[in-house]
Amino acid sequence: VNLYNGSKIPPPAKYGGRHTVTLIPGDGIGPELANHVRELFRFCCVPVDFEEPLSGLVLVWTGGLLQVLCVTCRLSAYSNCLLPSCRTSLDLYANVMHCQSLPGVRTRHRNVDILIVRENTEGEYSSLEHENVPGVVECLKIITRTKSLRIADYAFRTARENGRRRVTAVHKANIMSLGDGLFLQSCQEVASGYPEISFDSMIVDNTTMQLVSRPQQFDVMVLPNLYGNVVSNVCAGLVGGPGLVPGANYGENYAVFETGTRNTGKSIANRNVANPTAMLLASCQLLDHLRLRGFAHMIRRAVLSTVTETRLHTADLGGQGSTLEVLQSIRNAIESTGPRTLNT
Ligand code: ATP
Repeated sequence: VNLYNGSKIPPPAKYGGRHTVTLIPGDGIGPELANHVRELFRFCCVPVDFEEPLSGLVLVWTGGLLQVLCVTCRLSAYSNCLLPSCRTSLDLYANVMHCQSLPGVRTRHRNVDILIVRENTEGEYSSLEHENVPGVVECLKIITRTKSLRIADYAFRTARENGRRRVTAVHKANIMSLGDGLFLQSCQEVASGYPEISFDSMIVDNTTMQLVSRPQQFDVMVLPNLYGNVVSNVCAGLVGGPGLVPGANYGENYAVFETGTRNTGKSIANRNVANPTAMLLASCQLLDHLRLRGFAHMIRRAVLSTVTETRLHTADLGGQGSTLEVLQSIRNAIESTGPRTLNT
């Protein structure tokens, strides 16, 4: 999928032909997957140097564009930047997840191919809640016209660039007529600038029901923050679960790549059982973003062939393969397809 990066993002910075990327291992299965990405990049001679923040939030500024690769997020000191407030301060407004059925992964539904575009900086994640009096809490959901237009435009542009035919706005405007009403109206406005793409809308509760019964009807979805969170988890489940689907976050100046559902997988940490696919595909999105498309293609092809052809699956996909066995199979696939250094 060709993900629209925002027109104002400058070309990536390069020093001596290499890129500096901040790697935030996070907790749970994060550190081990971080190492696998690092080692696979070295194996493939990818011209990327990873820098890890020593504590808290140290971001690497590389000539106007910060590249961040995150393995898993949530709550560790290293992954602070991925708390909702940090997504907001980096203005990573578009969270994009592509959920596509993979041959070789057994799931209830086939031929799912949904591109989810989630607003990532406002809505229910405004962190504005307070207890007025004991036992009464107000929790504010913020919807703005500017950010709604921005995410809608992102969704339509991405749809156009990928030859997609339809965008569905997901909302609950029948109940939240002002807030979700504004979101919906903004999507409608933007839709009029993309006459070749059809536009429709669906209430979020019906959306989840439709997703689990007939997911093939969806093409591109654009959603406010919380609905986006819920729906993207449903969609990841539809195509095989949290170990498979990568997620990207784009703003005007920053980009973060991570596992799509942002699980930490604490219970399976350091047991050599985690599925590395989502994280490796996220690293391919990073390489696409850096315009290192040859390397992205080489790694992505090897990762996908291990899932779909070799069918070496970890336990989450019903298989018996270990993380390291999957990584070895990916290396074998890379070696069998030719030279390890590629032009971009
Ligand atoms: P946390 O707050 O620790 O992230 P969570 O409930 O959000 O918890 P997890 O427990 O991290 O989510 O993950 C949900 C489920 O998905 C768990 O059963 C976990 O083992 C599984 N899971 C997540 N990532 C992977 C992966 N890469 N490979 C295999 N299973 C995974």
